[in-house]
Amino acid sequence: MTVSRAPAEPTVREFEATVESVDGRAVVLDETYFYPESGGQPADRGTLDGHLVDDVVERDGAVVHALDADPGALSLAPGDVVTGVIDDAFRTYCARAHTASHVLYGAARRIADDLGYAGFDISETKVRVDLTTAEPLDDDDLIKLERLANRAVWDSLPVSWETHSAEEAREVDGIAFNAKTEEGAMSDGAVRVVTVGGASAAGDGAAPAVDGAETDADPWDVAACGGTHVSNTGEIGPVAVLERSNPGEGVTRVEFAVGPTAIDEIGAVHAAALDAATTLDARVGDLPDAVARLRGETDRLEADLRDAREELLAARLRDLPTAEVDGARWAIGTVDDADPNELREPAGEALAAGKPDAGDGPDALASSAGVGAAARRSRRAAGSTPTPRRSRRGSASDDREARSRGARRRPPIAHFFR
Ligand SMILES: [Zn+2]
Repeated sequence: MTVSRAPAEPTVREFEATVESVDGRAVVLDETYFYPESGGQPADRGTLDGHLVDDVVERDGAVVHALDADPGALSLAPGDVVTGVIDDAFRTYCARAHTASHVLYGAARRIADDLGYAGFDISETKVRVDLTTAEPLDDDDLIKLERLANRAVWDSLPVSWETHSAEEAREVDGIAFNAKTEEGAMSDGAVRVVTVGGASAAGDGAAPAVDGAETDADPWDVAACGGTHVSNTGEIGPVAVLERSNPGEGVTRVEFAVGPTAIDEIGAVHAAALDAATTLDARVGDLPDAVARLRGETDRLEADLRDAREELLAARLRDLPTAEVDGARWAIGTVDDADPNELREPAGEALAAGKPDAGDGPDALASSAGVGAAARRSRRAAGSTPTPRRSRRGSASDDREARSRGARRRPPIAHFFR
């Protein structure tokens, strides 16, 4: 059985080892510093004797290196001594991103009740942490998480790891056990415990000096974890929270970035805010008020426009020519650039003007409602007189049916109002 030495010695980038077995492209060494994919952290990249390592997985207690090479071209054989080189940029990114997830969890401990760990994943551009909380996290919580995480980075908290018996680990107060990372953290009844902050899992350190931190001797975060970490949170660099979502009941997914993606994200958000502020002739800090004012003004203008349009359509309907059909007087014609739904209310008003005590308006109304040039072109006889489908004695439900039938079959033509 070979266990990866990467979690214990995460700074090793080059090593020599002896080949134990070769099976096609799969190579097992007597020891390795390659990290196999586990618990949300991707496998290391690198080379073995110059052959590109395509994937690293743990299988049957052995770390298997899958080489990106034709098995026939591989000259490796059991007993050979090979040189392994870990891709420094990718491992460094993974260690920073992974440790950032501990820092973020520690931040969440300070703002959320009944916090639990529901999953974790590192991709090349972002990190996802799933948190279970008593109440869903909102946007304000995201801002607090980002601020606390960056303060913990700025305060350069030490990161340490040690192995405890499973029983000891379970007794450590506040330890975050995660079903996925426990996989890599547990080995022969022992648990690897990673501590971020001044106090170790045994509680022998001082509290980290971070605003919002508890004032007792709690470390920033303690977790059972088998991944690779940086030795100080200062190595993580800027943390930018990207977004949150709710993938399941009681779970908040927080996505964040570190490194170049975080720097780009912070720059993009700043640029967008400045752009918006310039457009609104406001300072960035005043944007919420400026946007709220603009929104209120837009709502008011939209309402005014709706009223004016209703009046206009009602006036057009009132001006339609009339004809006697089935003993009723119909107003018949085309109203361009109007949606059938828009005509419903103005039609009601036009018909109200046709009541015996309300002047000489129509008793009923048939109009073709056009919504634009394309729709007008599609009508064969836009100006022709539609055949009224019902008499004045028809029921209201007939009327609705006629309208919807007309709307479905030949939109946007021939809607009969009564
Ligand atoms: Zn970890």
